[in-house]
Amino acid sequence: MKQTLTLALSKGRILDDTLPLLAAADIHPLEDIRRSRKLIFDTNHEHVKLIVIRATDVPTYVEYGAADLGIAGKDVLMEQGAQEMYEPLDLEIAKCKLMTAGVVGAAPAQGRRIRVATKFVNVAKAYFAEQGIQAEVIKLYGAMELAPLMGLADKIVDIVDTGNTLKANGLAPEELIAHISSRLVVGKAAMKMKHRLIEPVIEAMAAAVVARRQEAN
Ligand code: AMP
Repeated sequence: MKQTLTLALSKGRILDDTLPLLAAADIHPLEDIRRSRKLIFDTNHEHVKLIVIRATDVPTYVEYGAADLGIAGKDVLMEQGAQEMYEPLDLEIAKCKLMTAGVVGAAPAQGRRIRVATKFVNVAKAYFAEQGIQAEVIKLYGAMELAPLMGLADKIVDIVDTGNTLKANGLAPEELIAHISSRLVVGKAAMKMKHRLIEPVIEAMAAAVVARRQEAN
């Protein structure tokens, strides 16, 4: 039986930058992924399928072997812990920074633990523990910038690109936790069982990343 290869792509802003890299690896979806409401797409290769899911679900599909390869932000991989997968390639797309941020000119919390609001709970806990700072981390699902303004938290941990969102809400970036970009991930089992199919995809995408970098310089 012919082996199939399933790639899990993150929808949203990563997708636009992902498609040219796939094209460079000669993987072309048969319909316009951005316009369709479908979740599974055939490609020009009979045995290669694409699924388009939430970024936070990509590691789960790869971990359980429901997808062989995936493209996910380092922020998501750091938060979820990328078990059972390799991370062979930095795609150098969707670059941003994971940072702490707070209200401009706010007095530091005194005599109590600082409160930090974020959707990156695990990353935030590890970061403040490493700094030797006792922090109470509060999980939010969106609009983190609101938390310090409403007195819910002293700081936030969030993705920063231009910094405009923070600035518009009277916040300023403080400490850099990590540089973020999207990564190609491969399930450990898939790498073993489908090595012959996966290796050329990694190589073609790696070449596309280098070509893009050279074009940018
Ligand atoms: P900015 O105002 O340019 O700093 O953008 C910040 C907001 O855009 C953040 O709150 C994120 O939700 C989102 N964002 C920007 N870049 C990325 C990225 N590469 N991956 C995921 N979210 C991002």
